[in-house]
Amino acid sequence: MSPASEALLRRRGGERSPEVEPDAPFVLVVEDDPDIWRSLQIILGRAGYRLGWAVDGAEGLKAFNDQRPDLVVVDIGLPKVDGWVVLERIRQMSSVPVLLLTARGLESDKVRGLLGGADDYLTKPYSNDELVARLGRLLRRCRPGPEAPRLYDDGRLRIDFLEHSVEVEGRSVELTPTEFRLLAVLVRHADTVLSVPRLLELGWSDISGAGRGRVKFSVLSLRRKLGWGDVITSPVETVRGFGYRYRPPAL
Ligand code: CA
Repeated sequence: MSPASEALLRRRGGERSPEVEPDAPFVLVVEDDPDIWRSLQIILGRAGYRLGWAVDGAEGLKAFNDQRPDLVVVDIGLPKVDGWVVLERIRQMSSVPVLLLTARGLESDKVRGLLGGADDYLTKPYSNDELVARLGRLLRRCRPGPEAPRLYDDGRLRIDFLEHSVEVEGRSVELTPTEFRLLAVLVRHADTVLSVPRLLELGWSDISGAGRGRVKFSVLSLRRKLGWGDVITSPVETVRGFGYRYRPPAL
């Protein structure tokens, strides 16, 4: 942990518990309610995470830049800069997993959050077990384990999963975080047809399957950027009535 984040923790009264591993995932909590922070500190500390706390949106963005967390929990209702703006700014810089917290149980907030690039969403009051389970799932999805290879290269497509860089036939391609995750999921399951609900679960953490249109939209823009826009020859195949599959080149 950086000296700045150590100082932040001390200032916030959030000493790191001694049993936490030094390479444990670092979770930044952007939340103005000190009671919620204290409860998160206990729950997430017990779950083995290193933690940082920011009390408003402006401090949250600064902490994000300084500390490069592995995951960010953002409350929507924040002083100075609200959670929507925090989410938007983070998404301009990074594909780090973001979980939104809100007191408002509005369906429109959920949709807005997910469309804005949040990975998951919890409405207060939430159960502690649910929160820990969701964070664990986001981190597993976004942080490849030591067994997951860093590079994929089939001679046509090359992906560096750490750098988040993509090349098609030697040409570098800029993808949005969502497009990158979709491509990563398809490539990690190469030759396997993935249904739209399965893609939503793997790429968006959306187990409700509600956002089907988002998959179609992201597939179209991904194909276009990779230069694979022709549906007949595209290596990202449509399997009608079911889903999509990535076809590596024949050896
Ligand atoms: Ca709040």
